[in-house]
Amino acid sequence: MQDTLVKDLAADKIDQFGSSLRGTMIRQGDERYEQARKVYNAMIDKRPGLIVQCADVADVTTAVNFARENKTALAIRGGGHNGGGLGICEGGVVIDLSRMRGVRVDPKARTVRAEGGCVWGDVDHATHAFGLATASGIISTTGVGGLTLGGGIGHLTRKCGLSIDNLLEVDVVLADGRFVTANAQENQDLFWAVRGGGGNFGVVTSFLFKLHPISTVYAGPILWNLDQAGEILRFYRKFIVNAPEDLNGFFAFLVVPPGPPFPEALHNKKMCGIIWCYTGPLDKAEETFKPVRAVAKPALDFVGPIPHPALQSMFDPIYPPGLQWYWRADFVNELTDEAIALHLKYGAALPSMHSTMHLYPIDGAAHRPSKNDTAFSYRGSQWAEVIVAVDPDATKIQGLIPWVKDYWSALHPHSAGGAYVNFMMEEGQERVQASFRDNYARLAKIKTEYDPTNVFRVNQNIRPAAATA
Ligand SMILES: Cc1cc2nc3c(=O)[nH]c(=O)nc-3n(C[C@H](O)[C@H](O)[C@H](O)COP(=O)(O)OP(=O)(O)OC[C@H]3O[C@@H](n4cnc5c(N)ncnc54)[C@H](O)[C@@H]3O)c2cc1C
Repeated sequence: MQDTLVKDLAADKIDQFGSSLRGTMIRQGDERYEQARKVYNAMIDKRPGLIVQCADVADVTTAVNFARENKTALAIRGGGHNGGGLGICEGGVVIDLSRMRGVRVDPKARTVRAEGGCVWGDVDHATHAFGLATASGIISTTGVGGLTLGGGIGHLTRKCGLSIDNLLEVDVVLADGRFVTANAQENQDLFWAVRGGGGNFGVVTSFLFKLHPISTVYAGPILWNLDQAGEILRFYRKFIVNAPEDLNGFFAFLVVPPGPPFPEALHNKKMCGIIWCYTGPLDKAEETFKPVRAVAKPALDFVGPIPHPALQSMFDPIYPPGLQWYWRADFVNELTDEAIALHLKYGAALPSMHSTMHLYPIDGAAHRPSKNDTAFSYRGSQWAEVIVAVDPDATKIQGLIPWVKDYWSALHPHSAGGAYVNFMMEEGQERVQASFRDNYARLAKIKTEYDPTNVFRVNQNIRPAAATA
């Protein structure tokens, strides 16, 4: 089905729509348009017909109805971080939730309710005041919406599970404009699907998460010279899977940024590292880290007690909005000697200061739900791997992409098959299906029930059964 372009709709129809909103409608040509269409990844250059900065659920409902009735493409923008730019669309309508960022903590019930346009920094700031936290990501400017709906991997994964494992309830505006709540008792099939199935089922206007007593963490990066990477990876593959759930650590190849707080001798040096987060008793922290510090002498050790939000925003200055990003990802069950040898080859060839490879553990508490308990199917996997070329310069990024593709192609035969949907660009249906595996059929059934005409198709799309046939 061909999407109707907003520019082909009658002007009075658009005016009428705009006047029914409490938020702001931005059209092509408006002064605010160029700024409003920008997303985090500067490689994305899409020009929507209308950007609707919703003020409330009523605006979201009106915008969903408008897009459905007029058969335009409809994108949902949470934090705008999606690698493939799936929070925005060409020629259609964007529901921009960035004005809906209210957060309410219930310290007695240990829950937090976050509106659909929150970024993680909003939530961390509010919960930390009560000495509480929930499972999120590693950069505070990432949207709660997109990150959670795809799964949610971060510093607290081994301790608290994925973000979806902490999700208690969602409020959703459906494709037909209805507003529903989904939780373990109500609309259970929808609640199952939104926990991993992305923005396929509706616009989530509010998320309710469970909180944990996490306040000061013993955390930060430990870096080693690149020639020690083989030793570190061989240590890491055994150590982390046997470590207590209080300890999380993701492996990285990286280039040390040329500025403080990094020592000058390390500036612009390619290194390997593990970014740690220990949430156990602080008086046990030194002892927990003894084997890590003993494996090989670190070139830099920034691990120590810090407030949880400080860890959550530690990498924000290195990765501000507006850089060019190209991504490839996979799930990994095992880090074999052969895979490590390939990592060493491509890690040594990191093509720019911001480019990186991360291996995020997805075990510990994240292994407790089964692969069919939520839509997130790779529960048995050990790591989510992501390879990203990043550069501020639009003229350079194309030259860095072959490194990502070659690295990914070399490691893919050593992977579990599919990828974490939130680390994917637009890579086609085969890749989407490989990432949901046997959960795909159930997702397609629920999609057919809630969104039979695929109104929500600007995402890692699960096609309604009728469209699949
Ligand atoms: C610098 C950076 C760091 C990252 N770190 C992590 C990390 O640590 N852990 C991790 O798991 N992921 C991480 N990611 C990946 C991230 O989870 C995805 O990019 C995710 O899509 C971002 O969500 P967003 O709301 O910011 O994105 P947007 O671009 O706004 O939206 C992306 C998609 O999410 C859906 N969506 C967003 N909000 C809603 C909503 N309220 N209702 C319905 N659908 C919605 C839409 O379908 C949209 O297509 C990172 C990404 C970047 C760029």
